[in-house]
Amino acid sequence: MSSVYDAIRRSFRGEFLENEPLSRHTSLKVGGPADLYAVPADLDDLLALVRGLTAHGVPYMPRGGGYNLLVRDGGIRGAVISLERFTQVEQIGPDLIRAWAGAENLAVVRFAQERGLGGIGFISGIPGTIGGAAKMNAGAYGSGLLEWTRSLTLLRRDAVAECGISELDYGYRRLSLLPGDIVLAALFQLEPRDPQQTEEEIRNDFELRRSKHGVGFPSAGSFFKNPPGKASWRLIDAAGMRGAAVGGAQVSEVHSNFLVNRGGATAADFMALAARVKEAVLQTSGIALEEEVRIVGEDA
Ligand SMILES: Cc1cc2nc3c(=O)[nH]c(=O)nc-3n(C[C@H](O)[C@H](O)[C@H](O)COP(=O)(O)OP(=O)(O)OC[C@H]3O[C@@H](n4cnc5c(N)ncnc54)[C@H](O)[C@@H]3O)c2cc1C
Repeated sequence: MSSVYDAIRRSFRGEFLENEPLSRHTSLKVGGPADLYAVPADLDDLLALVRGLTAHGVPYMPRGGGYNLLVRDGGIRGAVISLERFTQVEQIGPDLIRAWAGAENLAVVRFAQERGLGGIGFISGIPGTIGGAAKMNAGAYGSGLLEWTRSLTLLRRDAVAECGISELDYGYRRLSLLPGDIVLAALFQLEPRDPQQTEEEIRNDFELRRSKHGVGFPSAGSFFKNPPGKASWRLIDAAGMRGAAVGGAQVSEVHSNFLVNRGGATAADFMALAARVKEAVLQTSGIALEEEVRIVGEDA
């Protein structure tokens, strides 16, 4: 495999790391190595990389900020592509803003605020990037980012394609894409909004998060999706799992839908703890919890 990577590396201009531990690139701080961790310098670099990987049959996956990723301890066979250099945000119409995949959520909210536009203030406190937020349809307070999205620019089958939101299948914390698709940018249709109102939205969100999410240890936010009409944290509490631990992974004492790394946790600890939580909730309430966190990679 390394001769394949040597061939790709020759023309690559970005960062190119082999056997890169993904524990360095995920908020849970666990995860084995990716065969290749690549940070393309620009769109041409990304296109050449994806074409090279595809030609050699090497699988790849995009990473945003790594705030919703649980990578197993054996790591990832193939490439992880970080779009962290794609941070551009631009206004392209009176109420239209295009943000590239690597732009941080808060930076996009701020950009809109400065232009008297708003609507997506609810993502200001969600850690991560626009690419990850689009793929996860990240949201809060009953809103999801894709409701404010007019179209996505995708890298699909080695070519750039604009995809209207009505052509896409999405829902609560999910967007279905084709294998190999990478979100390059999102076009948001916003509303005129007094910058002061947005400021209050941002401040209230941060306050609420500090009081509710201040778990004090590395996490990936809510580990499980909320089942329709239910709050997962209540179900987990009812099952008596608040504070339960496997190795270094623990159900947070502060917010029981947050699984935290108390230090030295492995992905296997998180997987075992998640399985215990699911079993306990199933026994007590008959509800099968589903992970919101994206679980990828191989066991050790
Ligand atoms: C403290 C805390 C609080 C949180 N609160 C919330 C919340 O209120 N609401 C909420 O929805 N989430 C929340 N999260 C979870 C997380 O922040 C979101 O899911 C976020 O959108 C993940 O973005 P990311 O850039 O880190 O994506 P990553 O974690 O890097 O990736 C997530 C998924 O998206 C894919 N992906 C990433 N970039 C791209 C791309 N360019 N194209 C295609 N696919 C891509 C990845 O392959 C992966 O499957 C929280 C997390 C933490 C740690």
